[in-house]
Amino acid sequence: MGRAHSELAELVAIRSVADPRQFPPEECARAAEWVRDRFAELGFVDLELAETADGSRAVIGARPAADPDAPTVLLYAHYDVQPPLDDQAWRTPPFELTEAGGRWYGRGAADCKGNILMHLTALRALGAEAPVNLKLVVEGSEEQGTGGLEDYVPRHADQLRADAILVCDTGNAAVGIPAATVSLRGLANVVVTVEALASEVHSGMYGGPAPDALAALIAMLATLRDAAGNTTIPGLDNTQRWTGVDYPEEMFRADATALDGVSLLGDGSVADLLWARPAVTVLGIDCPPVVGSAAAIQPRAAARLNLRVPPGMDAGRAQDALVAHLEAAAPWGVRVSVEREAAGEPFLAEQGGPAYTAMAAALEEAYGRPMTTLGQGGSIPLCNVLADTYPGAEIILIGVEEPRALIHAPNESVDPTEIASMAIAEALFLRSYAKAR
Ligand SMILES: [Zn+2]
Repeated sequence: MGRAHSELAELVAIRSVADPRQFPPEECARAAEWVRDRFAELGFVDLELAETADGSRAVIGARPAADPDAPTVLLYAHYDVQPPLDDQAWRTPPFELTEAGGRWYGRGAADCKGNILMHLTALRALGAEAPVNLKLVVEGSEEQGTGGLEDYVPRHADQLRADAILVCDTGNAAVGIPAATVSLRGLANVVVTVEALASEVHSGMYGGPAPDALAALIAMLATLRDAAGNTTIPGLDNTQRWTGVDYPEEMFRADATALDGVSLLGDGSVADLLWARPAVTVLGIDCPPVVGSAAAIQPRAAARLNLRVPPGMDAGRAQDALVAHLEAAAPWGVRVSVEREAAGEPFLAEQGGPAYTAMAAALEEAYGRPMTTLGQGGSIPLCNVLADTYPGAEIILIGVEEPRALIHAPNESVDPTEIASMAIAEALFLRSYAKAR
């Protein structure tokens, strides 16, 4: 762990934000070379900095096992990081790994450089004895959402093909409580536009009988939830239950910054609402802002809606249901048009295969308590690409980004005991998986 600390400090000091408008691209190049060199020391060959469609470079390599029939495990992480955001809000310098209260602070300390150290530490613990073929991909633009690796994978399917894929960019339920993330919601956005008049008219001279586009839009949006806050779109089941570990309400209230006295929404647990059910959010409304608004009735109004789609639901069909609901909810014969944005499917990990079983046992041995399962309310598009490209592969989402890591926020940190325990679990997994299979 001494070496893990000094290496994580080196890696965090590289300001690898993959946005040339904010940080020089040389920083990402240095991070990629750093990762390549560390895995080269561990016997990885054919290492390359593969250019992807968005211009970022993914570190790709392999370490064949002595037995050519051994199964193949692909290790994933990313070396780019979120920008520090508000420098004033950081209590320690964001690009200087700093110990405080037993945690190591710095941008990327957990997401995802801590997971790179987890891989390195696991492989060092194993030495040369890993009885599996190893492949590696550490991408360089995950945080930008520009899809470089998502584009690369299907076009280089053989290079990264594996029986088990460890997507190490999530975390445990809490420090010391091992968990695999098994479910990710997809999304389906739409922009709905309502038109009712040919032009703005005075609210005194016409208000009352004149059809008001903004009032129509508000009425339509109000039908998307019931009084308890459940998302109510006909055809979209809003009663599913989450069967893994729950997300404690008090922790969620704090994480979501809910104000005292304000209720959480929906009939169900936090985990039901967040991981197992659809949720609709109004992202924006086109209407006059308060300052500068006139005494006029709006002829036209529009809203952009975000629908989160849980596993078990088809994102395209969920989008159809949302469009049909909006059209049916429009009052007074107003004209409604709906523009669809690209939909993304939800993801549900296959559980119960040999890799999953071996990982559950490895986590239990490393932590002394059984593995549980978590969901994630957002999406990781790469998981769908991997699932589509390698339908037979088991995809396991784990890592050191537990809730206190505050990834993407100021004062991101990692608990070093999580790096140690997760590295032990990964090493145990790599040793046992070949036999389990
Ligand atoms: Zn990440």
